[in-house]
Amino acid sequence: MRKKVIAGNWKMNKVLSEANSFVDEVNGKVPNSDNVEAIVCAPFLFLPSLVEKTASSNVKVAAQNMHFEDNGAFTGEVSPVMLKDLGVTHVVLGHSERRELFAETDETVNKKAHAAFNHDLTPIVCVGETLEQREANETMSLVETQVKKGLEGLSAEQVAKTIIAYEPIWAIGTGKTATSEQANEVCTHIRNVVKEITSEDIAEKVIIQYGGSVKPANIDELLAQSDIDGALVGGASLEAESFLQLVEAGS
Ligand code: 13P
Repeated sequence: MRKKVIAGNWKMNKVLSEANSFVDEVNGKVPNSDNVEAIVCAPFLFLPSLVEKTASSNVKVAAQNMHFEDNGAFTGEVSPVMLKDLGVTHVVLGHSERRELFAETDETVNKKAHAAFNHDLTPIVCVGETLEQREANETMSLVETQVKKGLEGLSAEQVAKTIIAYEPIWAIGTGKTATSEQANEVCTHIRNVVKEITSEDIAEKVIIQYGGSVKPANIDELLAQSDIDGALVGGASLEAESFLQLVEAGS
């Protein structure tokens, strides 16, 4: 049985005091369970405080991006070394907003995935199609390419530890959730791609999340699908109460 991983991606929202209040509220309420893992993906500035505040709770802290180099002349960037040093455990890579607005490519996602493992960070690798690509029946081939290129060169053991988040771009922040069948169909395909590049055993272990307008009202149905092992949640993760309901659904 794969555990469920519920990750709240705050994107560029909240100020430090709000981030701190959020974790103060959820810290004692997230169960210590083998069935569910709760992660908050926060802006860089909040990470030191959140890592400290969650030290003895079951909430994990993720960055929303990072550079692939360890250090150097990269003004404005944050390295995996810095994240690891703080105690961050996860990092979101290749979110569609970064691909669309900040020129992230499968190649940079791949470099970052390698860098994450070099520093013992768990990558949450995001993939997903635009509405035009879905309408042109390109979803499966596009997602397959994103998975293969994003994970290229990783060992089977590293692939097994990677979290893959399927987020159809047309469902992000639009209130339009993919139906649970649509979401599962793509997640099953992703699992088959993982099987092709590694083995059946690894494919059965890898965590595949769905993201795109996930909320307490639709999470049960999504998590009931055969290949959806959690959710990457934007809007509905901003309020502690709703985040806790999502975590509860996974436990
Ligand atoms: P929403 O849940 O707001 O649609 O955002 C999804 C997302 O992009 C999470 O990374």
